[in-house]
Amino acid sequence: MPRHIEALVHVSALAHNLQRARAQAPDARVWAVVKANAYGHGIERAYDGLRGADGFALLDLAEAERLRTLGWRGPILLLEGVFEPRDLELCSRLDLWHAVHCDEQIDWLAAHKTHRPHRVFLKLNSGMNRLGFTPAAFRGAWARLGALPQVDEISAITHFSDADGPRGIAHQIAAFETATQDLPGERCLSNSAALLRHGVKNDWVRAGILLYGSAPDFPEHDIAHWDLQPTMTLRSRIIATQTLAAGDTVGYGSSFTAPGPMRVGIVACGYADGYPRLCPTGTPALVDGRRTRTIGRVSMDMLEVDLTELPDAGIGSEVTLWGRGPGGSVLPIDEVARTAGTIGYELMCAVAPRVTMRVA
Ligand code: PLP
Repeated sequence: MPRHIEALVHVSALAHNLQRARAQAPDARVWAVVKANAYGHGIERAYDGLRGADGFALLDLAEAERLRTLGWRGPILLLEGVFEPRDLELCSRLDLWHAVHCDEQIDWLAAHKTHRPHRVFLKLNSGMNRLGFTPAAFRGAWARLGALPQVDEISAITHFSDADGPRGIAHQIAAFETATQDLPGERCLSNSAALLRHGVKNDWVRAGILLYGSAPDFPEHDIAHWDLQPTMTLRSRIIATQTLAAGDTVGYGSSFTAPGPMRVGIVACGYADGYPRLCPTGTPALVDGRRTRTIGRVSMDMLEVDLTELPDAGIGSEVTLWGRGPGGSVLPIDEVARTAGTIGYELMCAVAPRVTMRVA
């Protein structure tokens, strides 16, 4: 019998969340961002839920190839473009659209013998200072690309650094508008936070985390506010129980001391499964759909939950670490992420290969 831990992917929730993205931007086309193995959900499973998108955006050529093998004939965008010149060959063969963010990528295109002209998204560094041409260099790059026979269409793209933060995006939008003024082609700016919080739409939006039922890092709203549904459940079972007396401690480092008599459930889930070790005592968990808390330090293969108020729970009880529990119960991944000082993105992406993942 394998360990009980498993991750479930809720394909219908992916489809629902895609519709929510569409409702936010009815006139725009939606890139479903499926990088990092569809934010940890698996490209195949995500494809089942997201094939109603207008295109898929990702980083990895192998994942793009997988989408083509699955039968996707529509647009696929490489968000960071190609990483070396020989990637352009596969790019042509798979008919991929790709970002161009530096002079070297233009040099590679200029030297590339292609049978099919490329559609590129020229990236403006509008303030994030990660990838892209500065506003001063942007038009020069556009002109260089425009003169290449290897390129038949140029669109403009940028990425926001603070769409979910207090600084906001107005300064980046202003930089984008100035740099792209009068240039032809399509525009693509929004990530989930810019779409949900600021209503930025343009020709294309890039919806990532919202598709996976996690809100960007907004203090003010959870996913219920946006009518988004959880797309991933991490669940396991209780494999042992312990009865504690006042003063007994739990787990490595004895970081938790029982204030009085307590019952504790030992859960088959640890940091080697992708559950954050940084989750402190008090992190929410559901036992048979009822809310309780973790206690003590998360170890490699186990963690502990408080069963004191749940006398009927015991070995075999179902534990929802995040996502959907029995009886319609829900534990948003963002709540768990926040207690660990991180974001839902990281938790989804970190589910370990040893955890069986399947469609619910
Ligand atoms: N566009 C780019 C360039 C990204 O790197 C990402 C994700 O990090 C996204 C869009 C999607 O962002 P989000 O998941 O916040 O919607």
